[in-house]
Amino acid sequence: MSAATEAKPTESRSRPERRDVEDATCLACGCLCDDIRVVIENNHIIEAGSACLIGQSFFASQNQQNEHPIATIDGEVSDIPAALDRAAAILANARRPVIWGLTHTTIEAQAAVVALADRIGAVIGLGNEEESRAKHQAAQRVGVVSATLGEVKNRSDVVVFWGVDPVVTHPRHFERYSVDPRGRFVPEGRAGRTVIVVDSRRTATAELADHFFEISGDSQFETLWTLRALVAGSYVDPARVTSDVRHLGELLQSARYGALFHGSDLGRGRGGQATFEAFLLLVRSLNDRTRFVALPLGGPGNASGAEAVLGWQSGYTLGVDFAQGFPRPATRESSAQARLENDSCDAALIMADDPTRRLSSTGLDGLRRIPSVIISPIATSADHRATVALNSAAPGIHHGGTVLRVDGVMIPLRSLLETTRPSDREYIDEINQRLQAETERS
Ligand code: SF4
Repeated sequence: MSAATEAKPTESRSRPERRDVEDATCLACGCLCDDIRVVIENNHIIEAGSACLIGQSFFASQNQQNEHPIATIDGEVSDIPAALDRAAAILANARRPVIWGLTHTTIEAQAAVVALADRIGAVIGLGNEEESRAKHQAAQRVGVVSATLGEVKNRSDVVVFWGVDPVVTHPRHFERYSVDPRGRFVPEGRAGRTVIVVDSRRTATAELADHFFEISGDSQFETLWTLRALVAGSYVDPARVTSDVRHLGELLQSARYGALFHGSDLGRGRGGQATFEAFLLLVRSLNDRTRFVALPLGGPGNASGAEAVLGWQSGYTLGVDFAQGFPRPATRESSAQARLENDSCDAALIMADDPTRRLSSTGLDGLRRIPSVIISPIATSADHRATVALNSAAPGIHHGGTVLRVDGVMIPLRSLLETTRPSDREYIDEINQRLQAETERS
């Protein structure tokens, strides 16, 4: 056993009892605010300066004692080396292994998992693959006009929130990126921007907007397509265009620089992927007249990093199959979740995600029927009867690393608290080393 996977001493010998950490990163929503001043006393976070209420609760929750044992095998407490040996044996003996999750860990750990998948010929599926499939397929078909949030902050004079409510879900989005900041070309800040909300109901964000347009979730495709036709100057039967849609089209075209923010729901209802394509094509058409970009608000953790790492290392962003010894895209039918659902896999590694919340119930049932390894800060064999459960340190709390914001900007994480638990990256490296040694012996 290397020093990396020995249980570490709880108390730091070198860190003072009270200290401040500047520019810590909050992983509680897609804003990934990296300006949090964390005050730590006796290995407890007692203050998270600049964080919103969601962020404060995220940091406060890290003080809770992790009651789960560091490692278990078949539900029994184990030492780490024995659990790693069993995990490596499960993965080495599998003929069709799947790896699922990865959205709540660092880029470094995600890259190590892709190397492991390559070694054992696994199918990788991301924890957000179902909600992100329409977005990815639409982006591959029609492309995305995008920008960094820094560019939006400096240039946008029209900001549209389409079907999202950042005041509730991303409380500092206005302040940091989209509405309030004074930008290089928007020196007036909020006063220099027109804020528009399009949604099926009047939200908290709509209350702060200059314009609110109510459209039902079912008519999003028609509205987007009509707007695109209006922007392109195509003939549209006047009887089919409401005054609201015409007004919205005029506001979009009045922008010097516009930003359209969307959520993960777009493309999941009626119209599916076509709705997402219509959204991206509207932004593309707007660029014939002015400058416009599309950006998601993003979710908590590091799903953007997981998608990017898969893309960088395999060429496929949502799911990839290494069974043939080279990467192939995993479709909905051949995805990790589908294999769990139809019993076409014989072992699973679940990492940095919550299968009880994000896998389908059929997939979860399938997971319970095969040997499995779970590595997570909340790993417990009770939830889905994992054969091996390894509790890991939390990224951005117990160890550093890198995550990717929705606009592709790298954000560093800082280590704040001491823990006895190794990181998920350390566990994966140990499993990789065991598999390498096994290969060399045979
Ligand atoms: S806006 Fe999001 S990332 Fe920023 S402090 Fe609040 S919860 Fe954390």
